[in-house]
Amino acid sequence: MKLYNVKKSNIDKRGLYASKNIKVGEKIIEYVGKLISKKETESNPKFDNERDIYLFNLNEKWDLDGDYHWNTARLINHSCNPNCEVEGKGLKLWISAIKDIKKGEELSYDYGFSYSKEDLDNFICKCGSENCCGYIVREPSRWRINKRFKISNRTNK
Ligand SMILES: [Zn+2]
Repeated sequence: MKLYNVKKSNIDKRGLYASKNIKVGEKIIEYVGKLISKKETESNPKFDNERDIYLFNLNEKWDLDGDYHWNTARLINHSCNPNCEVEGKGLKLWISAIKDIKKGEELSYDYGFSYSKEDLDNFICKCGSENCCGYIVREPSRWRINKRFKISNRTNK
C-alpha cells in the first residue's frame, strides 16, 4: 500500500499527504527522473538556473532531472519545518521521514535553495510553520532573511 495520497494543498496547488502513520526513517516514495550527465546540465539552457527545483546532484558525473509528470515526488512541497528529507544511494533517490508523521499530514522537505537577494520574491514560502521565514531558502541560510526582516525567531545552534 502506498504511504501517500496526492491532494490539494494549502502550500501550493497540490501536495503529497501521508495515507497512514509513517515512522521516522521510513522510505515513502522514490524520487524518479532521468539521469543526465553533468556535461549536459552545464550546456542545456533548461538548467541555467541557480535553483533547479527538480534537479539533484547524484555524484561527480550524474545529475537527476525529476521534472516529469510521472515523478509524483516532485509534488512534495517545501517547508521551513519539514517532516521528510531526500536520501540518496548510488543513483537512487528517496524521500524518507525525518520524524513520525501522522496519517493526513502533508509531506514536505527543505528544497535546500541558497539565499539570493535578487530573486527572493519568486520563492515565497507558504508552509505556515511557526518558524517560517517567508521564503524558500535552506535552513542554514535563513538567518539572513530573519536579519533582513528583523525577525528574532532564530534559534542559537
Ligand atoms: Zn516556510
